[in-house]
Amino acid sequence: MCGVFGAVIPGGEPTEAAATATLGLFALQHRGQESAGIAVSDGEQLMLYKDLGMIGSVLDERRLPSLRGPLAIAHCRYSTTGSTVWENAQPTYRQGPRRAIAIGHNGNLVNTRELLGLLHGGRARLPASTDTELLTALLADEPAADTVEALRQVLPRVRGAYSLVVLDQRTVIGVRDPHGFRPLVLGKLPRTSRPPGGPNDGGLWSDDDAGWVLSSETASLDMVGAEYVRDVEPGEIVVLEPGRSPRSVRFAEATPALCVFELIYFARPDSYMEGRNLYEARRRMGEQLAIEHPIDADMVIPVPDTGAPAAAGYAEASGLPYREGMYRNRYAGRTFIQPSQGMRHRGVTIKLNPMREVVAGKRLVVVDDSIVRGTTTKRIVDLLRRAGAREVHVRISAPPIYHPCFYGIDTSVETELIAATHTVDETRDFIGADSLGYLSIRGVLAALDLPYERFCFACFDGNYPEPVPYDVEGRKFILEETALTGGRG
Ligand code: SF4
Repeated sequence: MCGVFGAVIPGGEPTEAAATATLGLFALQHRGQESAGIAVSDGEQLMLYKDLGMIGSVLDERRLPSLRGPLAIAHCRYSTTGSTVWENAQPTYRQGPRRAIAIGHNGNLVNTRELLGLLHGGRARLPASTDTELLTALLADEPAADTVEALRQVLPRVRGAYSLVVLDQRTVIGVRDPHGFRPLVLGKLPRTSRPPGGPNDGGLWSDDDAGWVLSSETASLDMVGAEYVRDVEPGEIVVLEPGRSPRSVRFAEATPALCVFELIYFARPDSYMEGRNLYEARRRMGEQLAIEHPIDADMVIPVPDTGAPAAAGYAEASGLPYREGMYRNRYAGRTFIQPSQGMRHRGVTIKLNPMREVVAGKRLVVVDDSIVRGTTTKRIVDLLRRAGAREVHVRISAPPIYHPCFYGIDTSVETELIAATHTVDETRDFIGADSLGYLSIRGVLAALDLPYERFCFACFDGNYPEPVPYDVEGRKFILEETALTGGRG
């Protein structure tokens, strides 16, 4: 999973587009913490800066003065293809015979091997091992008159999940694959965010001098003061150019299948998707969970922070009190030291600490949003028991994950998914809970009040909207393997 942001801001300060894209990206940090980057254009030249690390450490104030121009795209990465190395950070950049192009990509392609066969010179021409690098090379090579036409030529051959922000010298382009697996929204900057004294005082700018942004989530529109305009539609290209209204170009018929996990867990609770506020959607999932899996207990506690909305809903529907039973250390990032087995045995915990006063002697309903391998939930149950909890009843506001994701979420291979190899009772025994209940697919849909057909539920029910590759095990590092064999073409 990744976060993407794009901005076109004509007539502002020279670095306003870069600053806006950086701030917008900052609101998407939860979507990827491995690397961050930005590419800008002043109308003639593209400039790119990227590095491994969190957004705040990569894109700080010192970088801004050199990132000039009214066009910018930005990206933060959580790897689903290729290793965490500098070369694989995004945006990608490529100077082709017809155009220079930079891309930020959220999602995962499923026909990378096939696409590699289309690239003249094969794998040896790619400096990085991501599917995005390959897509960038194909687009830069494409002998079309402009980038939009190149996208129209190349994208029909590309399968899988891709929400893209694309930058060339004169445009920022938003693209969503025909299923729309990953979100992408269009926003408009109100006049108040521009320097005073410009034309069109009062209200929004006219479309001719408006600022426009693209983002993975609506929450980051709020952060930069942009108004939500609409979603980029599945199968649509939206072209942003200074001094013009956004232009829509369709490259494929829409067959919508938005990742339902975005609504259950990944996206921010203050974002909106499919017209639903995600906090409220998750709270309602908790209500459904209480209806499907009631239990006699003393209180409901969330696994912080992501389980909080569903726990609130469970508490309301069940009539049980809601308490914060665990403290989460928000400063324990991914790169922080991991405890050894011996440290774990001694009860060393980095992120979560139960509050003994709250949980001791109590029968707890513990609400979380997912169980993947089961090891984290096992750890949480163990911590709560050590803190004196009398009973621990685990409730999950999503169905069991039986199948891997090929569309940009690293839910690991099938054999590592506990639900794929254990019954619910066996999983309950493994995590050491007194009872375990998952929300059903029907319950998720009831909470969303939307039809099944709008979403991808593949990791829950195996109905993959886009056929997936057979070489499951090696899919993440497919271009690294291919480097060893020299690739095709
Ligand atoms: Fe989302 Fe699961 Fe579909 Fe992947 S398989 S896109 S995680 S619903």
